Amino acid sequence: MEKLYEGKSKIVYAGPDEWTCYIKYKDTATAGNGAKKEDLPEKGRINAKISNIIYDYLSKYGIKTHMLRVVEPTMILARKAEIVPLEVVVRNVAAGHFSSRYGIEEGSPLKNIVVEYSFKNDDLGDPLITDSMITALGIAEQAELDKIKEQALKINELLIRFFDKAGIRLIDFKLEFGRCDGGIILCDEISPDCARLWDKATNEKMDKDRFRRDMGDVMYYYEEILRRVMKANE
Ligand code: 5GP
Repeated sequence: MEKLYEGKSKIVYAGPDEWTCYIKYKDTATAGNGAKKEDLPEKGRINAKISNIIYDYLSKYGIKTHMLRVVEPTMILARKAEIVPLEVVVRNVAAGHFSSRYGIEEGSPLKNIVVEYSFKNDDLGDPLITDSMITALGIAEQAELDKIKEQALKINELLIRFFDKAGIRLIDFKLEFGRCDGGIILCDEISPDCARLWDKATNEKMDKDRFRRDMGDVMYYYEEILRRVMKANE
């Protein structure tokens, strides 16, 4: 297979048609822009499965995604899209960089849902960026940003409902979008690698913060999320 791109956690290969590509999930886990790196056996398979179930669920509610079909446990066939170089973060509860940046205790409630953007650029460390900066730099047009924000908020509503059924609190998550057939579609993945997921009963962290913060038992909790997501999806 012809490799088109290799990122920190996925490899993209040319697909059977011009407009498709294969996306392979790797077991590699990184944090701090690649400063911390480790192989976590089975992570690729578990994240692929979680993400595939969620993308299936979202598409049933009208969210357009890059997902076409599962090829192997760690590989999907996807629509090729021109990735908008933005990390779109939705926050329901203060945590992570939001807490450290503004000095707010992790777990504090927010008066409204936050949607924030970072410019996806490893050399610059993915700096936070505003709407007018995004349009000024030509990263995306205002109409695209409006669509991205609308989709992100709709996805948030759907995910809160889904994870609640799985006994999980959706604290925050990161999305990536791409341009395809004149529209905007959801790309990348939704998994414990890019979402903060806390146990509804105990507030225990079940996501990548366990890796970032050396809390241990990373794959135990990823497996547990998969188990609950599968059950919620029945
Ligand atoms: P924070 O900005 O607090 O670090 O992250 C907010 C949310 O977006 C978290 O759920 C985090 O996992 C996700 N996120 C932000 N940046 C990245 C990134 O570069 N990679 C991944 N996998 N997730 C990210």
